[in-house]
Amino acid sequence: MKKIIFILLFISYLNGFSQYNRYFEDRCLRIDYFHSGNIEHEYFRPDELIEKTIWAGSKINLIDTFNYGKIRVMVYEKLTSKLIYSRTYSSLFEEWRTTTEGKGSCGNFSETVLIPFPKVVVNVVFQSRDSLNKWHDIASQIINTKKDFILKPKTSPSEINELHHGGNVNEKLDIAIIADGYTMADLEKMKTDFQTLKNAILKSKPYEKNADKINIWGVMAISKQSGVTNPSDSFYVKSAVGCSFNTINSDRYLMTMENKLLHDQLANAAYDQIIIMCNTNKYGGGGIYNFYSTVAAGNPQVNYLIEHEFGHAFAGLADEYYTSSVTVENFYPLNIEPWEPNITTLIGFDKKWKNMLDSTTVVPTPDSKENNNVIGVYEGGGYMKKGVYRPYIDCTMKSIHYDALCPVCLRATQWMIDFYAR
Ligand SMILES: [Zn+2]
Repeated sequence: MKKIIFILLFISYLNGFSQYNRYFEDRCLRIDYFHSGNIEHEYFRPDELIEKTIWAGSKINLIDTFNYGKIRVMVYEKLTSKLIYSRTYSSLFEEWRTTTEGKGSCGNFSETVLIPFPKVVVNVVFQSRDSLNKWHDIASQIINTKKDFILKPKTSPSEINELHHGGNVNEKLDIAIIADGYTMADLEKMKTDFQTLKNAILKSKPYEKNADKINIWGVMAISKQSGVTNPSDSFYVKSAVGCSFNTINSDRYLMTMENKLLHDQLANAAYDQIIIMCNTNKYGGGGIYNFYSTVAAGNPQVNYLIEHEFGHAFAGLADEYYTSSVTVENFYPLNIEPWEPNITTLIGFDKKWKNMLDSTTVVPTPDSKENNNVIGVYEGGGYMKKGVYRPYIDCTMKSIHYDALCPVCLRATQWMIDFYAR
């Protein structure tokens, strides 16, 4: 029986691999575009197409099977209309448009998506979710790599160090950690901080037991000034990839509006996930699904911060907290099942962690001491006290605890590792 399963897996592997070679070259196409609008309207406008030498993604799993995120890019062979690649992600624009500013004015954000470099003429369709979580086409772009103007990669001045070796980039999860706010004089600190972040990831569950499925790269971007911008202290610097606190008016939210600068600096790096390592001691960070994550490398909570933010960016995990300072009314409509794997409104709970519940577990599950370490359905999560439920009393996605992802978050993270790596 085992032999038959092995042969079937091998056939499906060969099949996937030949699909890749039929439609794509062994390099990468960077699609830059502008994502603009406000709470009611959104627009995608093409910007630049840029060749990138390394395709670090899987050559087997070309179609996104998770259905997470707010944006979906669908790549069709134009001749046959066959779907040959897809990926889901979210973006800073999607968050900004829900703010007071996003309700009253119009924003314009640069965004980037990487796809394998097409050999055939393709129709690239960008889709966005509506309030009912249904996908809608927003824009499309015909790309003919033999005729279109495709910029050559800009040579990044950044040296790249291999921090951890798992294997071939197409068969492993590749994480690029890029430095921001480190000058030449900060080089030793940068190297130490790379090690801190690498260890924080590889010494926590579930990454520890998957270390052979992961490559980690350190991108040594050099800034002219030390530190990152912190408007609340009137501290402004022009750092290598432009990270700043107080993103979309949230003091601890540490993101960059310099999307093109970020991707230019990463031109020579192989990555499925980007982590921006910020040279600051102030508590803060951020993480957006399949977009990037950031972390304050000098903060005493750096281990927790990176595991939490990377949980958002890599595994699509939601915040499980709902404390009053961040309680947001109606952040998740209660008549819709959220797409994140670790929260539920009970509308579509069958597809969440129901199969992990013990048959004796009461739903909703009381948040009491005897239920510590019991997988349940606990009310409160996703910034909302009522109507949104989480799977465990506590978790790295709920409070400041390093290496404490709950069993549901661990399972969702493992699914994602297995999508990229084998
Ligand atoms: Zn959790």
